[in-house]
Amino acid sequence: MSAVTLEEVDRQIRNGFRLLRFEPAIESLFLRDYAVNRVRLALVWAIVGTLIYDMVYFGDRTMMADVFPQLVIVRFGIFTPFALFSVVALRRWPSALNYDLLAVGVAVLGVLLPMSVAMRSGSPYLFVYQNGNVAAFLFFVIALRPRFVTILIGLALMCAVQFTTTKLSGAFDDVVYTGIVTFYVTLAIFLTISAYISEHKDRLNFLNQLRGSLLHSQLEQKSERDELTGLFNRHSLERVRSSVWRADGGIPCVAIVMLDIDRFKLFNDVHGHMDGDGCIRAVCHCISQEIGASGTAFRFGGEEILVLLPNVDCEAAFAIAERTRIAIEALGIRHRGLDDGQVITASLGIACGETSRQSLGDLLKTADATLYEAKRHGRNTVFPPRVPPQ
Ligand code: GH3
Ligand code: MG
Ligand code: MG
Repeated sequence: MSAVTLEEVDRQIRNGFRLLRFEPAIESLFLRDYAVNRVRLALVWAIVGTLIYDMVYFGDRTMMADVFPQLVIVRFGIFTPFALFSVVALRRWPSALNYDLLAVGVAVLGVLLPMSVAMRSGSPYLFVYQNGNVAAFLFFVIALRPRFVTILIGLALMCAVQFTTTKLSGAFDDVVYTGIVTFYVTLAIFLTISAYISEHKDRLNFLNQLRGSLLHSQLEQKSERDELTGLFNRHSLERVRSSVWRADGGIPCVAIVMLDIDRFKLFNDVHGHMDGDGCIRAVCHCISQEIGASGTAFRFGGEEILVLLPNVDCEAAFAIAERTRIAIEALGIRHRGLDDGQVITASLGIACGETSRQSLGDLLKTADATLYEAKRHGRNTVFPPRVPPQ
């Protein structure tokens, strides 16, 4: 899922993130998640936000009659296309940075455009009109919810626009102007604090979710794998079986190889169980190397390994089995229970067929029988014997 480990996430939770920044690997995961979530919502907010913004048309007509045509132009001719095009661009180039740029652009323009027209108006309703910008402040912080730093920059720019345009309008005396400034500064401070708390909470939720999914995949891996050898355990055979014996018949043929180490009871008796464990581990590692990506190996029983080879015919299965047999012998693990110079070997039984005609159970029965035959034919052999393709 990611290159981040459970320990790194735990350390990040322990160390905290007061500056709203994680360690680089976790931060990049957070930003990916942030971008996906915000971009998904961006279109909804673009439509809802622009609709509400454009409905101020009625307010423009009643309160700002003398500059109404200009207000119509900035709302419908500039802001609306800008907002909609930015969202389309964001869906084309989705990223956390692009989202934040869009959010700040929309918020600042949303205040700047109507205010730069309204400040030229002689309307007595300018005080009430400029109050409407509170909605833009709230929309930016609560609905768009960009990152904290973006909110900080955005609110500062929105305040600057608000204070400049109201001042330049010349419509307010110092007392009213100070009241407007105080009101917006207070609003911006409260919004900033709530944005910090909200992002901190979002980040903590993200870490907890990440921790949960890492724990889950760790447990899943543990429950699927055999501890001694690292191979899949017998329990996970069902999952792989269902991906091979699919209803759509995607994999027409399949082969299985059942492998059993020769004279292993004796090996344990002579060398001890610890060495026995080491031997099983070495043999399993060798099997994994030999089958590579052509199949999956399962620890089926004590020293019995099952190899499932999807899309592999009988001849290819024989070639893989024979190669594996030779490689195990070549490990040269000395078996002191046998004659001088004898090493650990394995016997292998093959079963192959078509997924539409044979079940895994059928193939297992056949492989059990062919393995028995391999043992009967003197061990260290593959059964049935076939000439590998030249
Ligand atoms: P054969 O050639 O007929 O297979 O003879 P064998 O002695 O290998 O017989 P069998 O396959 O029945 O023996 C399996 C032995 O493997 C029995 C058990 O002591 C040993 N074994 C099973 N699991 C483990 C394990 O996890 N570690 C160790 N050290 N030994 C194991
Ligand atoms: Mg054995
Ligand atoms: Mg056995």
